[in-house]
Amino acid sequence: MLWPGIKKLGKELNLKRTDSEVVGFIKNCFVKMYDGRNMKIMELYVPEMDDDDKNYIIKKLESRKIKRYEWCPNGVKVIFTEIFAPYSMKKIKELLDELINYFSNKYPAQKPQCQHCGQHNETDIYCINDASLLICNDCHNKIKKTTHNENLEQQNIKGNYLWGFIGAILFAIPGILLTVLFFVFLESMAAVSAVIYIILGTIGYKKFKGKISPVGAVIIIIAGLIMVAAGITISYSVVILREISKELEIINFDMFMDAVKIISKAILEMPEMQKELLKNIILSYIVSGFYFVYQLNKMVKEWKNQKSVDKPREIV
Ligand SMILES: [Zn+2]
Repeated sequence: MLWPGIKKLGKELNLKRTDSEVVGFIKNCFVKMYDGRNMKIMELYVPEMDDDDKNYIIKKLESRKIKRYEWCPNGVKVIFTEIFAPYSMKKIKELLDELINYFSNKYPAQKPQCQHCGQHNETDIYCINDASLLICNDCHNKIKKTTHNENLEQQNIKGNYLWGFIGAILFAIPGILLTVLFFVFLESMAAVSAVIYIILGTIGYKKFKGKISPVGAVIIIIAGLIMVAAGITISYSVVILREISKELEIINFDMFMDAVKIISKAILEMPEMQKELLKNIILSYIVSGFYFVYQLNKMVKEWKNQKSVDKPREIV
């Protein structure tokens, strides 16, 4: 995700964007900026970088008390740590301007190298599955070809949605035990059992050879939603069974089965019990809803079967 600070600076500098980065050329340098957890990151790739250039960069960073940076091939990755407040975009821009002026004056006629093969001609920025890369024409053609072939292969991989769904349900069954424990001992259904259903469901889906695709991700989430309702219904029955067994002493299996039958009948026939059960299920969906939405979004992205090679887009 691209946050407003970097997006705004990117627009000001006439850069373009991917889903999570602003990227582009400023004079003859390749710049990439993005947000991290409690940090902003700037990557700068220049035509050449010798020891003098590195010392210049170190001096500039030290004068600004920036301690975190890494060297890349003909580039530097600067990490602006944020503790309480966002790092000042003005300060990032000042540093960027100084560095770019230095390198464009020192190497005016050169361009940064291809990040794949190292040659300096005909480089341009491409997003390969949304990660930006500076590559030459030849490398771009090669990557386009392999991506196309990989996409074709992916399409031909066999996998079955129905078996995947069955696997997701079967593997998630042990998770019900956890729901019961939470329900009985904490008297609430914690979102944690939703997490378990998705983890176990994903394992089951893959074991049963469910097809890895965005549709598959949706199927796992649906299986998870069904299991939440099943888990709550069973937990609810267990709670009632516990109440009953306090009054009646259940001494053998037949008595236990009778009690289960009575409870099932009561749930099916008594509106008050249905209402109570429904209330619990809805509450659990509300508690676990955020997790399901988050997980669905993540899985659809990860399981996207088509890779893409695009140019970065305009910042609007
Ligand atoms: Zn290349």
